[in-house]
Amino acid sequence: MKDVWACGQCRSINQHRDKRCYNCHTPRAIGGVDPLKLSVTDRAPIATGPTGVYRSTRGMALLTSILILAAVAVSLIVSVAGLEEIETLRSGGRATVTGEGIGSMILILISVVALATITWATWISRVVGNLPALDLGYSLFTPRIVFFESLIPIYNVRRMHGVMKDVLARFRPSPRDHVAITAAWFPLVLTVSISVLVFRVTIFLPMDAAIQFATVMREISLGLQIVSGLFLVALIWRVERRMRGRAAEIGA
Ligand SMILES: [Zn+2]
Repeated sequence: MKDVWACGQCRSINQHRDKRCYNCHTPRAIGGVDPLKLSVTDRAPIATGPTGVYRSTRGMALLTSILILAAVAVSLIVSVAGLEEIETLRSGGRATVTGEGIGSMILILISVVALATITWATWISRVVGNLPALDLGYSLFTPRIVFFESLIPIYNVRRMHGVMKDVLARFRPSPRDHVAITAAWFPLVLTVSISVLVFRVTIFLPMDAAIQFATVMREISLGLQIVSGLFLVALIWRVERRMRGRAAEIGA
């Protein structure tokens, strides 16, 4: 049978063009067998035990956590300065030094968020890459796909949910995992949605109402960013703890 291959791990039959098992995502190179040679009596998986090398992700987790908290802190500073400046201008005052510095502060904010996104992408893709080395199977997403998808704005927020769910489900799943993911994810979705909403709505409002609306939304968004940032860091260390526990357990 040249047009199909069997998965030695889960016994699924895959098409010739498939490089990974459709069912358990094991690469063909690791678990692929000729379907005719698959024993009908012995149903044990072909490739058992860890494959690949386990790499600690602790340093990257620490760097990502610091950058996430830094992004929240800079966002807080930009918001407070921005709101103060709006108040000054509305009460007839002149632009202050802080007001003029807001542009460069926003640039710093964008850079910190970009850096945090890159370290997050690196961290999560290494975590996914560690799964086979910890004998936890293969994720639906390859480390490379996870890395690049984590960099695409807005899409990465959606993707994060699926990847995190899959990762945590493999390390001794706990019923509270769902809450931990949602607590980090939901405020993040809301804050992104608010930014889009403010942009769409303020174009149609008169100047004064637009500023008022944007100010209130900015305050709500800031609260959500703080909540999301803290829960994201908690989520990172939840994964780190489980991963280290698993590595110690199997001596990886
Ligand atoms: Zn399989």
